[in-house]
Amino acid sequence: MEKLDHKQSSVTPHVLIFPLPALGHLTPMLQLAELLCIANFKVTFLNTTHNHQRLTQHTDIEARFEQYSGFEFKTMPDGLSEDNPRTGQGDVKGLMISAIESLSTSAEPLLREILLGSSETAKITCLIVDGWMSFASDVANEAEVPVIIFRCSSASCNWSYYCIPKLIEAGDLPIKDEKMDELVDNAPGMSSFLRYRDLPTFCRNQNTSSCQDLQDWFNGEIQQNKQAHSFILNTFEDLEGHTLSLIRSQCSRVYSIGPIHAHLKYKLGQQKTTLSNNFSSNLWEVDRSCISWLDRKPNKSVVYVSFGSLTVLTKDQLREFWAGLVQSNKYFLWVIRPNLIIGSELDNQTPDDLLEGTKKRGCLVKWAPQKEVLAHRAIGGFLTHSGWNSTLESIVAGVPMLCWPYFSDQQVNSRFVSEVWRIGLDMKDTCDRTIVEKMINDLMDGNKDELQRSMDRMSYLAKKSISEGGSSYSNLNQLIEDIKAMSKKGEH
Ligand code: UDP
Repeated sequence: MEKLDHKQSSVTPHVLIFPLPALGHLTPMLQLAELLCIANFKVTFLNTTHNHQRLTQHTDIEARFEQYSGFEFKTMPDGLSEDNPRTGQGDVKGLMISAIESLSTSAEPLLREILLGSSETAKITCLIVDGWMSFASDVANEAEVPVIIFRCSSASCNWSYYCIPKLIEAGDLPIKDEKMDELVDNAPGMSSFLRYRDLPTFCRNQNTSSCQDLQDWFNGEIQQNKQAHSFILNTFEDLEGHTLSLIRSQCSRVYSIGPIHAHLKYKLGQQKTTLSNNFSSNLWEVDRSCISWLDRKPNKSVVYVSFGSLTVLTKDQLREFWAGLVQSNKYFLWVIRPNLIIGSELDNQTPDDLLEGTKKRGCLVKWAPQKEVLAHRAIGGFLTHSGWNSTLESIVAGVPMLCWPYFSDQQVNSRFVSEVWRIGLDMKDTCDRTIVEKMINDLMDGNKDELQRSMDRMSYLAKKSISEGGSSYSNLNQLIEDIKAMSKKGEH
C-alpha cells in the first residue's frame, strides 16, 4: 500500500497524545491524531494494553496508522485487573478517580521516559492530554513541555464543571430532592433552562463531606486548566458559540474543531489516499447484518437504539425499554452490547409478546457500525444515552434524538438537545414502558417535522463548520500553526 507523503524535517512537530482509556475519549483523540498526521506531524499515541488489544482485534487500526510514517503507538497497562468490567456501573465519580489513579501509577514511568528522557530527535513539542489526567500534565510541566488539554465532552458540560465550585459555595449542592425541577440560579448563561436534574450526575446523592471533595477536585481541575497552553473541544461555534464564549472568559485559547469525525472524513476526502474515510474505533466485533436489514425498510421508519460503550441497564430497565419499543409499533434496531445488562446477558425469561414483536419489527445486534447506521436512509430517530460522540454523530447525520442520559455529562447534553437546540426529546430519570412508547411516537410521528427542521439546519451548520473556510476548519489550521510555531521557537 502507498504510504502517505511525509515531509518531515528537524522542526517537524512531534505531538504526544494521551487519552483517558474509554471508547468515548479514545475515538475523538485517535481522530485528532490522524488529522495531525495528515498535517505531516509526528504523533506518538499512548494507549492502554487492554484497549489496544481490543482495537487490533476488531479493527484494522495498525494497518491504518502504518500509512503514516510519523505515527507510533506506545502501550502501557491500565492498572486494572483483567476481570474488571470497565463499565459505568456504580459510583461514577469514584470509579473514574480510581481508574485514573491506577492509570497514573502504571503510565507515569513511560510518560517520564518519553517527556523527560527523549533524545533530541524524538523531542516532544507538546502533550495533548485528556482533561482529567492532571498527573500527566504534572510530568509535562516538569519537562517544560507545553500542555494542550483535550476535553471530550460538550462545551456546555465543561461550563457546568466550571460552575460546580460556586454551586457548592452557594449551598446548592448536594441537590435536595424537592429542588430537582427548579432552575439552577448559579449557572451563568444556563440559568434560564438548566434544572438541578440536568447537572452532571455526580452532583447528585452527595453528602456534605463528599461535596467538599467535589469542590477540591474541580478547583484543582480549574487550577490545572489555567496552567495549560490551550484547550481543544470537539464542538463547533454554531452549536455552542455562547457557551464557548463563557469558557473563553476563563481560558485564553480554545480551539473548537468538531465534529471531529466529520472533520477527519472531510480532510481524508481532500487527500489522495486509499484509506477509508469511515474508520471507527470499535472495542467489539461489528455486526454488519443490520445494514442489509435496514436496506429492506422504508425511509425514516426505524428507531436506532444504542446506549454507547459504558452505560449499563438493570433487567427491569431492559424490559421497560423493550416493551415500549414493541408497543410503539415502530421498526427498531437495538445494540445490546455483551456487558450492557447488569449481571448477565439476555436470558430466556423474555415474555412471548416481546419476542414476537421483535421478530416482526426488531433487529438486535451486539455492536453496530453506528455512523453508517445513522447515515442510512431508513433511520428516522435515535434513542440514545446522549454520549457526546453519539450526539455529534446524530447531528451530522441529521437524525433527531430521544435522550435517556445515564451519567456524567449526558444529563447536560440531553437538556441542550431538547431545550436549547430543539433537535430531540429528553426522557431523563424515567424508564417506564408507557413513557417509552409515547416518546418514541412523539419522536417518529407527533413532533417529527418540527424536530427534523431544526435538526436539518444544525446538521447543515455542522458540515459547514468543518468545510474549507468554516469555523472548525480554521480553528484546526490555527492549532496546527500554533504547534508548528512551538516547535520552531524551540519552545520544545
Ligand atoms: N458505537 C458504535 N457502535 C455501537 C454503539 C456505539 O460504533 O453499536 C460508537 C459510537 O459511534 C460512538 C461511541 O461508540 O462513537 C460511543 O461514544 P459516546 O461518547 O456516544 O458514549 P460513551 O460510550 O462514551 O458512553
